[in-house]
Formats: sequence, C-alpha cells, structure tokens
Amino acid sequence: MAVLVTGGAGYIGSHMVHALVDRGETVVVVDDLSTGFDAVLPEAATLVVGDIGDQPLIEETIARHGVTGIAHFAGSIVVPESVSNPLKYYHNNTVKSRALIEAAVKRGVQSFLFSSTAAVYGEPSKALIDETMAPAPVSPYGWSKLMTEIMLRDTAAAHGLRYAVLRYFNVAGADPKGRTGQSTPNATHLIKIASQTALGDRPHMSVFGTDYPTPDGTCLRDYIHVTDLIDAHVLALAHLMDGGDSLTCNCGYGTGYSVLEVIDAVKRVSGVDFKVEIAERRAGDPSALIADSARIRALLGWTPKHADLDMIVSHALSWEDSLRKRNTKP
Ligand code: UDP
Repeated sequence: MAVLVTGGAGYIGSHMVHALVDRGETVVVVDDLSTGFDAVLPEAATLVVGDIGDQPLIEETIARHGVTGIAHFAGSIVVPESVSNPLKYYHNNTVKSRALIEAAVKRGVQSFLFSSTAAVYGEPSKALIDETMAPAPVSPYGWSKLMTEIMLRDTAAAHGLRYAVLRYFNVAGADPKGRTGQSTPNATHLIKIASQTALGDRPHMSVFGTDYPTPDGTCLRDYIHVTDLIDAHVLALAHLMDGGDSLTCNCGYGTGYSVLEVIDAVKRVSGVDFKVEIAERRAGDPSALIADSARIRALLGWTPKHADLDMIVSHALSWEDSLRKRNTKP
C-alpha cells in the first residue's frame, strides 16, 4: 500500500510527503521538477521524475508500488499567467488531471485528494464563503481547477472512485521543523514577498490598492498555515481510505487579515521596518476572501493548530532565511 503524491516536490505537496512519511506511510512522488525541488523530499519517499499527464507512466507507477490513494497537487498556480496563457493552464491543470484520473480508474485506485482553490468562487458577493456558493471563476486558473472538480464528480458517479476536493484559501508559512517551505523563485504571494523584503532581498514592496471597501482599504484574505492545510489532507485521506463519502471542503480559518496587517506582522516578527509603497490595485483581486470552514470541521473533525498570523509569518521568515543560506553556500 502506498500513496502517490503528484507535485510532491512542490511547496504544498512536499509538506504532504513529510506528513505521510512521518506517519509511516509509503509514499511515491511523481513530479517533473519544473517548479519543485527534490532536495526538500525525505529520503524515505520514492521520487519518479515524470509528467502526471503521462498515463502509461502513472499506471505503471500505481501498479509497481501498490498505490491505493492519490493526492494530486501538481499544477500551474499563477493566476495572471493563466490569463495571458490559458491553454497552458487547461493543459497542465485540466488535461493532465484527466489522464491521472483515468489512470486511477483503470488501476482501481479509489481514494483521490485534489488540491483545489478558493479561486473557483471568483469574486463572491459576500466575504465569508461556504461551499454551497455557486462556483464562478474569473480566471482560467480557477476554471482549470473547477473543470477537474467536475471530472472527479462525474468519474466518482460512474466508477466508484471517491474524492476529497479541498479548496485552499491563502496558504502560507512553512514546515515548523524547517524541512520544506515555499522555494520557487519569482514569488507573487504577499507573505513571501514581505519576508524577502524584511530579509533585504528586495529594496521595498508594494501594497496593491488601498481603496477597497474594507476597514483599512486593503484586501482581506484568510491565511492558513500549510501545516494545518496538510492536517486537513491527512484527515481527508483517512476518511476516504475508511470508505467515507466524497466531499468538497474549504480550507481556511474563517479569519481575514488585511494586506497592511500582514505587513505589520512581518515587520513585528522580523524586527525590520522595511519600505512599503502604495501602488495601484492588482487586476482581478477581490476585496475579501474568507473561508467558512464549518463543513471541514464538522465532517473531518479538523482543528487548526497554527491559526496565528505571527506564527505563520515566523515560519515563513525562517524558511526564507534558510533558503538564502542554502543559495549563498559556496
Ligand atoms: N499583495 C500586495 N503586494 C504584494 C503581493 C500581494 O499588496 O506584493 C496583495 C494582493 O493584492 C492581495 C493580497 O496581497 O490583495 C494577497 O495576495 P496573494 O498574491 O498573496 O494571494 P491571492 O489572494 O492573490 O491568491
């Protein structure tokens, strides 16, 4: 018995690999290393460098390792890029997921976790979002993920596969033990950018818009520690392995922080008062995205353990610092 983790060398996937290995599971990673790093993987995990859209490779991997569950993280994640290059997103996120799902069906894998996103909700009419809200993505990225959700729904109905779709809000932080974190260059995410600025890698950073209808005029987001997100995956996988029903759940805390509050937290935790400039709104940013997480708490008994902005920031800063030290090693 083994769990196949696609994108297991990436930011979130690598945390899942560590969590599963910590629990004594056998883990096989399929990752093309286009944005992931094999150095963050534990030795106990088997890495297959390859493409999740390569159905023969996936089927062979499932058969060889006795895979009984799949956790699917691999995909492209940059929303503005999905607008300028939509076919890349429909290929990497939708077409390749289809091949992966078919491999699962053909090889009898019945438990399937899918890494989805709050972007499926688009620009919601209210800040607190629950899963009954109709999906209405506003980017090809959101659509590419929603299409995979739909494929899973229909495949489950036809073939008896069971799935957990987990819709992530703003994932941040890093492994508290310092084994992995957000490693990809060209970061666009707020906490990573603020951490890099605090550590002196950037001369300053920008706040994209201060005229939103929020208390301080900057956007509100629900930042979830990656370790709590992974706890949700581990619970969802156990639920499916025990024969539990398919489910679709938000992953967030239900608390929103503004861009300025996050920047203040990074300044406070790092002790560095870095330079911040006010800039124009970034295209496509909804003013507030906050998860109603009642469903996942009720269905899976999920209880966050790291729901503290300063802790999230502190772990993000530690990882960023360790990355700089690795990169400057002779
Ligand atoms: N943001 C910002 N400056 C940055 C990066 C992000 O003001 O350098 C803002 C962004 O406009 C949004 C919030 O921070 O309102 C969260 O953005 P992020 O890219 O981290 O996540 P998203 O919610 O877009 O997935």
